[in-house]
Order: sequence, then structure tokens, then C-alpha cells
Amino acid sequence: SQACSPQCCTAFYRQASSEVSLQTEQGGEKGYKGHDMLAPFTAGWQSTDLHPLVIERSEGSYVYDSNGKKYLDALAGLWCTALGGNEPRLVEAATKQLNKLPFYHSFWNRTTRPSLDLAKEILEIFTARKMGKVFFTNSGSEANDSQVKLVWYYFNALGRPNKKKFIARTKSYHGSTLISASLSGLQNLHQKFDLPAPFVLHTDCPHYWRFHLPGETEEEFSTRLANNLENLILKEGPDTIAAFIAEPVMGAGGVILPPKTYFEKVQAVIKKYDILFIADEVITAFGRLGTMFGCDKYHIQPDLVSIAKALSSAYMPIGAILVSPEISEVIHSQSSKLGSFSHGFTYSGHPVACAVALEALKIYKERNIVEKVQAISPRFQNGIKSFSESPIIGEIRGTGLVLGTEFTDNKSPNQPFPSEWGVGAIFGAECEKRGMLVRVAGDSMMMAPPFIISPEEVDELISIYGESLRSTERIIE
Ligand code: PLP
Repeated sequence: SQACSPQCCTAFYRQASSEVSLQTEQGGEKGYKGHDMLAPFTAGWQSTDLHPLVIERSEGSYVYDSNGKKYLDALAGLWCTALGGNEPRLVEAATKQLNKLPFYHSFWNRTTRPSLDLAKEILEIFTARKMGKVFFTNSGSEANDSQVKLVWYYFNALGRPNKKKFIARTKSYHGSTLISASLSGLQNLHQKFDLPAPFVLHTDCPHYWRFHLPGETEEEFSTRLANNLENLILKEGPDTIAAFIAEPVMGAGGVILPPKTYFEKVQAVIKKYDILFIADEVITAFGRLGTMFGCDKYHIQPDLVSIAKALSSAYMPIGAILVSPEISEVIHSQSSKLGSFSHGFTYSGHPVACAVALEALKIYKERNIVEKVQAISPRFQNGIKSFSESPIIGEIRGTGLVLGTEFTDNKSPNQPFPSEWGVGAIFGAECEKRGMLVRVAGDSMMMAPPFIISPEEVDELISIYGESLRSTERIIE
């Protein structure tokens, strides 16, 4: 193997893609050179060499850029457009609500019909255990931020003000506000932002392939991680730990599935020390894993749940928290004492967002979306996993309609390619060149196509993946 040219470096991913685009006279939009937006999760946004890919319209599993080039949207936007790019019923639901009541809030015992109906529907659809109430936010980050406030409010109400710390996991992603970025276990979200906040602790990432000891089974690995968690709790003092937060399957950290018996063992530890369990289902809810919720798949009995993304198939920004009956009861009596539950956003329960989400949930039910994902996912998973033998791939992992690929040298988790080679970035650029958009982070590549993806589109996705892989192999050879 030899180093490739510097433009392949991860930091130059978009530039690399733009160069490819310029060569083909497609993709990168010259007119937007040195654009005015401080773009999220983008390096060098002010650079005159940076050509953003400007997406102009969408249709089914595809999006089109401003030059008319078509891309298979293998990440469903940002893991969110579950029903694809042009579901007319969602547009109609939004239009109808906009015409009737574009806005009213939900403060001070005033609210709107769509928000009441959506809360009811969410509680009905979540069956891993009985939940009590739904609190609306505008995003997943706001949901997780609100989780921390709810938990603190709850323990203060119980007269246990020392219970304030949160345990999250290395490589988790819970959002990018101050608190949700603190919960996240990704270094780039912390560095130079003075994060994480001191009340957040991080425990092991449950990535078996990367972290298991020689000869250790998945079950033994899970036991070791649960023991480490218990030791952390004992070291900090169980009376200081309020909650544990986990994604059922880690998404942005690289699509990391829990090893066998992991959640069973972790839940036993959490329960033993009277610590709350928050399931961050922002990616995993509504069918992504082939079950309605990740909690169903892994038998998680959470106290609190965060949802967003597929809740509205991303057609409107909306997130929510599901609160257990025990917690909502305590919040209810505390707020009655104080005269208010003083937390919320202007747009909590926005009627248009709620109307769209209601319609999305209706469609998931009518079209048996969970069975649809179950039916299509073996084609997707097996197709991509057939490339596992590639000499530049360490691991391909996934379930349902979410999948991650990790590039490593000699198939070893301990032999990463030099980061300046930007192997993940090269692969991402190769996919983009061939008309497919994926997510790249370091040498991990992630896909989460829309739930409505057809068998033919899955075949196209696999074929573009295969061609991009062969091309990446040649480039770094
Ligand atoms: N939680 C998880 C698991 C996520 O994947 C994300 C976003 O990707 C968030 C929270 C944050 O959601 P948002 O970007 O809507 O704030």
C-alpha cells in the first residue's frame, strides 16, 4: 500500500468529491463557491475552493443536484427520510394543516389537536413497555437535552438532588447542543468546545470486533463491559448517578450493534443502582432495525425514550421524548407544587410538524413498514456483506436497513490505514461519482436507505458499492 494524494484526506472529502464532480462537470456547484453559510459538520466552509453539493429535488430513493445529476440516497438524507423523497400524503398533510392552522403553541394549557393526537398515537405505537406521556421537541438534540432536564427535575422532586450524573458510551452520538454533545462520546464534538460537561461520564463502546480480548466470546465481552459499568458506578457513588443513555444500535459512531446479552446485562446493573435508562431511538425508531423500535429488538425496558427523524420522515422538524408513567407522575406533582413545568419550546408540538408525523405513522401502519423492512433487509445486508473479503475491509456490520463498513489494513481492527490516506473519504467520493450518497466518518462508512427502497434499487446500491470498493482498492494499492 502507498499513500495517495493529499486531496484524498478525510478533511478534504467534499473538495475531493467536488474535484471528481468538476471533472465530470456534474455535482459541485461553482456558483456557490465561498458561500455565506456556516455549514454544520463541514470543514473549510469559508474556503473559495469548497464546492457544496447543492441538492435541489428528491423522488423516492433518489435526490438530484442542481446540475440534474441523480444520486441514490443511501443515507436517507441523514438517516431520516424513511418514506423517501416525494410522499404526496405527507405534503398534503402539511398543506392541509398550513391552511387550517399554521401555528399555535402548547404552553399554559393551550394546545392544538394534531399535537394531542400525535402524543396519543406515539404512546400506542410504543409497546416495549407502557409509557405515560410525550414531550415534543424540534430535534433529536433537543430531545436529549430535555432528557437531562427532566431527569434532574425528577430526582430533585424526589428529594435526591445528588443524583445528577449521566453515563453515556464512547462513540455514541446524541446530538450537538451543549448537553447532547456532552452525552455524545465522539471526540470531535468535544474538542475546542470545552466539552463534555463535568456531569457526563463515558463508559465502554460495545464494539466486539474492535475491543474484545483474544478468545473472549460476545457474551463474555458483554459481561466484562457490564462489570466495567458497575465499577464506574461504584467508583462515582451510585447515589450520584441519575441515568444511563444508549442508542440501541449506535449510528453515527459507525453502526455498532450490541454484542449478545449486552443490554440484558447492562440493564441489570442499571436497575440494581436505581439508575434510569434512556433509549436514544432517534435513528432506530419506526422500523429501521426491522422492528418498530430498537427497544423491541433488544428487549429494552426504558424509563425514557428519545425519537425524531423518521417520526415525520423528516418532512418537518420534530422530535419527542416518551416518559414513563412513574416519572411523569412525579413531574406532574412537582410542577403542580411549583405552579408550572417551566420547560418547552415555541415550536414544541408544532401543529404542522405533528400533522405530518401523524400521517407518517399512519403510513407506516397501513404499509406494514416493519414487515417491509424485514423483507428487503436480507437482500441489502447479504449483498453488502458479500464484499467482506475485500483486503481493505475490516468489518461490515448491520441489521435491518442500517449498515456500516470499516476500512482497515490486513483486516485487523488494530491496523488502521494512515488517516492522511483518507480511505473512507476516497470510498465516499467514488460512490458520489457513481451517483450514490453515503456517510463517511474517518474510515467508517455508513448507509441507512429509505424504508421504501425497492429490490432493484437495493441491487443498484450494491453494485455501486462494489464498483466503488474495487476502485478504492486500486487507488490505495
Ligand atoms: N440521537 C441520535 C442517535 C442521532 O443519530 C442524532 C442525529 O443524528 C441525534 C440524537 C440528534 O438529532 P438532531 O440532529 O435532530 O438534533
